[in-house]
Amino acid sequence: MTKDFDYFNTLLVQGVGSKTGPIAPTIVPSAAYGYADAEEAEGIFAGEVNKPLYARVGNPTNAKLESVVARMEGGWGAIATASGMGAISMVTTAFLKAGDEVLCIGGFFGGTYTLVNETMKRFGVSNTFCEVDDFDHIGSTLKRGVKMVIMESVGNPSLRLPDIKRIAALCNTYETLLMVDNTATPLIVQPLALGADIVVHSSTKNMSGHSAALGGVAVFRPVKEKNDKLFNEKYADVHKIVNKMGKKAFIPICKKRAIRDMGMTANAFGSFLTMLGLETLALRVERVNRSVAKVAQILDENLPEGIEVNHPSLPKSEDHARYRSDFPDGCGPLLTIDCGTPERAFAFLNALNMATLTANIGDNRTLALHMQSTIYSDFDAQTRKFLGVTEGLIRISIGLEDPEAIAKDFLQAAAKTA
Ligand SMILES: *Cc1c(COP(=O)(O)O)cnc(C)c1O
Repeated sequence: MTKDFDYFNTLLVQGVGSKTGPIAPTIVPSAAYGYADAEEAEGIFAGEVNKPLYARVGNPTNAKLESVVARMEGGWGAIATASGMGAISMVTTAFLKAGDEVLCIGGFFGGTYTLVNETMKRFGVSNTFCEVDDFDHIGSTLKRGVKMVIMESVGNPSLRLPDIKRIAALCNTYETLLMVDNTATPLIVQPLALGADIVVHSSTKNMSGHSAALGGVAVFRPVKEKNDKLFNEKYADVHKIVNKMGKKAFIPICKKRAIRDMGMTANAFGSFLTMLGLETLALRVERVNRSVAKVAQILDENLPEGIEVNHPSLPKSEDHARYRSDFPDGCGPLLTIDCGTPERAFAFLNALNMATLTANIGDNRTLALHMQSTIYSDFDAQTRKFLGVTEGLIRISIGLEDPEAIAKDFLQAAAKTA
């Protein structure tokens, strides 16, 4: 089913703006907040009075952003964080402890991979990695009592497309939390509707579009009154909060068990800038996803021998069938170009006129980067292979420019590398 971008255009501009007083979101820069009296202070700390406590655990500008993103993702509540990694580490810190195991499905953004495989490991959390379509391995790993499943809506830079619904159904069968990183596909994929429990975004990327604000956000489903997977014994250490806070328990679990103690909180100015981006997100997403498919097609037809474009919209892609069935509006701003060797990839990048060479994605401008020599330079050969990072791989994030002009620039650069 294709997405109703008109619905999202209306929701986002109406949600970010106000009818009376200041129309643009207001920036509240105060770190501390005065309480009316001792009783109000007590109520705020107990979570019974909904007013700001201290900016580390919440701020009115962040709250506005959180309410818009929660509605956008069809969630019950959200928490804005200092970065995308802040959102992911907030959720993992809030739920995991030494002795737990996480299951990671598919390819991963470099920071998420090292968070799981180095940092969380240091704190005693073990992990298993599975290919997106290895359902036997996914099922047997879940069966032995995994605490959390982490996956990306689209593999970056592998561009593998997961069957989110099927994976979510497995997670529900085994009462395991599923967190989906939806950074690459805001609006076009709605993980909560597909059965996920938590959605995270790096709002630095598509949501902002302007590359002017680092930020992240986590969105949560409501907790069910009965038979919620959070009541499973493996989540016993959050039962007290779930019993007290009910539906909205994901928020205090993350605030009391991560944000309060670690402070990966968003700042008001960053949240303001993110909201300026959000106003035009639906227009940009629709435009960029159309452009990506178009650029991929032009490149596929015209690139010289030895340089290959990869995108699931192309019939030769191994995920083409899933692209057509589950991703009818596209799968985000990325495509990859494999130049075969690092030397040829460098020559290609150095001959580009339009693309900006940077480690970002989802920008309004077209971006490009050689993967092995940059983001994945610390990774061994076997890990790179698992993550789909080949020697000559260049990741491209398509921007708002004329798609024909983008493709033309890539073709002239490719011609110079022959
Ligand atoms: C960039 C990115 C992150 C991390 O976000 P930051 O805002 O840079 O911390 C996480 N996941 C994905 C898919 C990303 O592209």
